[in-house]
Amino acid sequence: MKSKFPKLAADLASVSRGFYQRGWVLGTSGNFSAVLSREPLRLAITSSSVDKGELAADHILQIDESGDVLEGGGRPSAETLLHLAVVRLRGAGAVLHTHSVWSNILSDAYAADGGFSIEGYEMLKGLEGVSTHEHREWLPIIENSQDMSRLARSVEDALRRRPDAHGFLLRRHGLYTWGKDLAEAKRHVEILEFLLEVLGRKHCALK
Ligand SMILES: [Zn+2]
Repeated sequence: MKSKFPKLAADLASVSRGFYQRGWVLGTSGNFSAVLSREPLRLAITSSSVDKGELAADHILQIDESGDVLEGGGRPSAETLLHLAVVRLRGAGAVLHTHSVWSNILSDAYAADGGFSIEGYEMLKGLEGVSTHEHREWLPIIENSQDMSRLARSVEDALRRRPDAHGFLLRRHGLYTWGKDLAEAKRHVEILEFLLEVLGRKHCALK
């Protein structure tokens, strides 16, 4: 059977360059993954320390369920454990993580509440399973850490507590979202980044 890896790697690189253009993954920030197979679990994931504006297909690695590299050169993203947690707990086919300005600002502003809700916006209908602007989306906020095992446990707790959430924020760090495939995950980034910017700008405008 033909490997899905070359096509997924090219698609992940294309998503990366697009997000860079939007200012969501400046420098080497952010990371992206997509599931190649589930049994056994194989992920295509961005290599660490690569400029996201210049990411190419050969900067994508193939890893196993422990994060060990099976194909490609370089180290997998430092946040690989978080991608694996989302894939396991949500059955996601792709996981995308941005470091945008608005995710940094709002994850700090609402940190004490552990998250915030977004309600009443037409754009919410871009989230999988949402059919009305009256939907209330709760976006959990998780305290940031450089201890990836600890952070992965916090992510797992948050995902279990909020089985309906389409994404979460790491405080002063960025947004994680996912989808059944790369196209859906990309759409969720676009929708959530739009809504974060609306909320942030509205907050400023009403001050
Ligand atoms: Zn990050």
